[in-house]
Amino acid sequence: MRIAIMGIQGSGKGVQGDRLASDLCVPRIVIGDVIRERARVDDEVGREIADQMGRGELVAEPVVVQALAVRLALRPEDGFVLDGFPRSGTQVGTLDAMLGRLGAQLDVAIHLEIDEQTARSRMADRLVCSVCNAPTSRRRVGTGDPCPLDSCVGTVVPRTDDQDSVAVDTRLAEFYALTVPVIDEYRQTGRLIEIEATRDEDAVYDEMRSRLAALAGSRP
Ligand code: AMP
Repeated sequence: MRIAIMGIQGSGKGVQGDRLASDLCVPRIVIGDVIRERARVDDEVGREIADQMGRGELVAEPVVVQALAVRLALRPEDGFVLDGFPRSGTQVGTLDAMLGRLGAQLDVAIHLEIDEQTARSRMADRLVCSVCNAPTSRRRVGTGDPCPLDSCVGTVVPRTDDQDSVAVDTRLAEFYALTVPVIDEYRQTGRLIEIEATRDEDAVYDEMRSRLAALAGSRP
């Protein structure tokens, strides 16, 4: 199945998308991670991306499109869980066109729905691995503790864009202005599963799996 997982910052896309991809045995494509990797390259493009991310702005379209094209070219017919794309109406068209060229299409978008207060408090609590970006929370571990993944040697740190109040406001504003219309479009075209995601991780995951199973069963 080709799935896009969507939601406001802190809605659990990382954790839920990771579980889903490993259970379905498909790659998880995390656009934010790909962009963060590019931002580490010390050249003009890398510095520009790092500045945009630091301000909480969406990065320029060509960078994101290239990041996605590289990942999608790797056997999209086997399915994927796409995290962080599409985030705007333009990106919906880009994704459909890219998949179309590969003879594929997006099967479903999942919207993990939480309120803004929960989003803000989860961002304030969020810690990520400095090596693999795996997310965790200050409710479970402290800064500098080992990565939650046994196989990783990294330690967890806060994300700088989660700690900067202007960047947080910008990211939330972009979600409402650009990404909510995308979610509306998927709803109107019958390609959306909506999950109430303020509940605990397992409850959200179980509902997501059963809704996906029902969808797969209802299709010829
Ligand atoms: P995330 O880890 O998904 O919160 O993404 C981190 C940052 O990467 C965002 O604040 C944007 O600067 C950038 N980014 C991620 N996805 C996209 C996208 N689809 N379009 C443009 N910029 C993006």
